[in-house]
Amino acid sequence: MANVETIFQGEHEQVCFFTDPVSGLKSIVAIHNTQLGPALGGCRMWKYDSTEQAVEDVLRLSKGMTYKAAVAGLNLGGGKAVIIADPKKDKSEALFRSFGSFVDCLGGRYITAEDVGTDVNDMEYIFMETNNVVGVAETHGGSGDPSPWTAKGVLEGIRACVEHRLKKSELKGLSVAVQGTGNVGRHLVDLFAANGMKVFICDIDRKRCEQIAEAHSGKVSVVSPDEIYDLDVDIFCPSALGAVLNEKTIPRLKCEIVAGSANNQLANPECGDELFKRKILYAPDYAINAGGLMNVSIELEGYDERRANRMIRNIYYCMGAILGHSAQENLPEYRCADRVAEKRIAEISRIKGRYKGQAKPTFQGRVVRR
Ligand code: NAD
Repeated sequence: MANVETIFQGEHEQVCFFTDPVSGLKSIVAIHNTQLGPALGGCRMWKYDSTEQAVEDVLRLSKGMTYKAAVAGLNLGGGKAVIIADPKKDKSEALFRSFGSFVDCLGGRYITAEDVGTDVNDMEYIFMETNNVVGVAETHGGSGDPSPWTAKGVLEGIRACVEHRLKKSELKGLSVAVQGTGNVGRHLVDLFAANGMKVFICDIDRKRCEQIAEAHSGKVSVVSPDEIYDLDVDIFCPSALGAVLNEKTIPRLKCEIVAGSANNQLANPECGDELFKRKILYAPDYAINAGGLMNVSIELEGYDERRANRMIRNIYYCMGAILGHSAQENLPEYRCADRVAEKRIAEISRIKGRYKGQAKPTFQGRVVRR
């Protein structure tokens, strides 16, 4: 369990506790690493059982954001916020504006966004107090719901996995099992069906699954949340909860590829080793689900949908590089993703430091980016 000592022994740059008796706000912002740029990460609102639990969550999540932004090629660091409150009962204008004014006092070192328990309406209140927020409504120059972009990115990552493992350039005819048909999952189902894949879905909300299957006129099959692990499919696509790849579920999998949007899919690193040993390709979650982060990050420079599409295509190349590295070094994919992130942070930090306080060299050529 996290305590103050954990913070001092850890690698986070800054951890701030904010309280406001007027609005009832109790929140923590953790800035893990700003070597690549300001820390960006969502604000989670959750009824934690203890402050220690909230600290542990914000430390873990903010570190994850550092790796996600680094692998995605973004000039952003990793941070996250938590508000200790019940999202069903405790939301108010004062609470989010109070949180917004605290975010503002960090002077742009941390930029907030939606996460579990918060939505675009909450971001609007935060936006009244600070510019350091993304994921605001389209009418305010924002990019709105990130889920369709996360789904697009997952599709790009899956294309790379299929090429690498199944040696196929098309998804048509392949089968996929989608676990969770929420905001991202339902967009994934549409994309998979549009690409001619055979789609199986499950959700603890069975009615939602049946509505989706009906909308796809029977081309999508509904299974139970437990059955999903046993299906003989090409791809298992976790898009609900974390820790679904564990000692109990991995032996049941018959797929060649695991690739989905859920965060923290591996119950522990050894589960990533076990998948590798069983020759099941695992697309590292933070690399494949970065589409939503990429999309909101564009708001910082003025939102442009064409830029978002171009950036999200990079998930295909990034995944290809991770899989190539994994094959070459005979290393589990999750470890290769960590290496890519750490290498980029180290290299870019060195480059930035080199010219600190000096005139930067004039670039003479043309910048060509994929
Ligand atoms: P969501 O809450 O809208 O959807 C999750 C769905 O999973 C719900 O429909 C829920 O009923 C279902 N579910 C819960 N437990 C289940 C179980 N045991 N079996 C089957 N279904 C179950 O969430 P979302 O925004 O679609 O996100 C899905 C995952 O992707 C999460 O892990 C999230 O952290 C991650 N993610 C989301 C985004 C985004 O843009 N929304 C970005 C990156 C990562």
